[in-house]
Amino acid sequence: MIDPVLLAIGTAETTLIVVVRYFAASGGFAWWTARRGITAGPRDAIRRRRQIADEIRWSLISAIIYGIPAGLMLAAWRFGGLTQIQTAFDWQAALWWLPSIALYLFLHDSWFYWTHRWMHLPALFTRVHAVHHASKPPTAWAAMSFHPWEALSGALLIPALAFVIPIHFSALGVVLTIATVMGVTNHMGWEMFPARWINGWFGRHIITASHHEAHHKHYSCNYGLYFRFWDRLCRTDKGLVANFGR
Ligand SMILES: [Zn+2]
Ligand SMILES: [Zn+2]
Repeated sequence: MIDPVLLAIGTAETTLIVVVRYFAASGGFAWWTARRGITAGPRDAIRRRRQIADEIRWSLISAIIYGIPAGLMLAAWRFGGLTQIQTAFDWQAALWWLPSIALYLFLHDSWFYWTHRWMHLPALFTRVHAVHHASKPPTAWAAMSFHPWEALSGALLIPALAFVIPIHFSALGVVLTIATVMGVTNHMGWEMFPARWINGWFGRHIITASHHEAHHKHYSCNYGLYFRFWDRLCRTDKGLVANFGR
């Protein structure tokens, strides 16, 4: 049994980390967007300011929700040795390093695609998912702008996977970095990858801002998170916004 005080300290720590990560990532990409002379979000300055304030408020509530399962998982790892997170880097860990990242990303993407489609059912949309779509169009600050129920569904998967699928902590760091960067850049109002990437193999398989922006425009398509796999398979892929923000 893990000491409840250690659990409380652990979740407070992870919540703080998620908050700092949010301000660093969203703030950093919002700054880059402004430096490029691009105005993301609504055209009208008052509406834009109000939308960004809402995006930050919902994101901070989400950060607390994300911090709790992450903190419980970390405490279980540090004090109970209960997870599948590895620290030793032997040949087995080296061989499993890339496949574990790919598997975590694929499972995270699958979870996101199906829960996201589910949240677009009319009853759930108005109660839960409308918060995320209130950003019209979104900005970098919308990366964690979710209703608490949606945040909880997003917060549970990776900590749960850490109990079942072995992963080296450095590989888990890569997964979390990809999740953070893509979550922010897919909402920041322009495409950061070069046009030749977007028009080639990368853009055909990997989801970037040009793909997710079409979801925020049309709602009933492009539900995926990292890969276009499920959207293609289920015929919900409606392609990319051409020359997005160029
Ligand atoms: Zn979105
Ligand atoms: Zn949606």
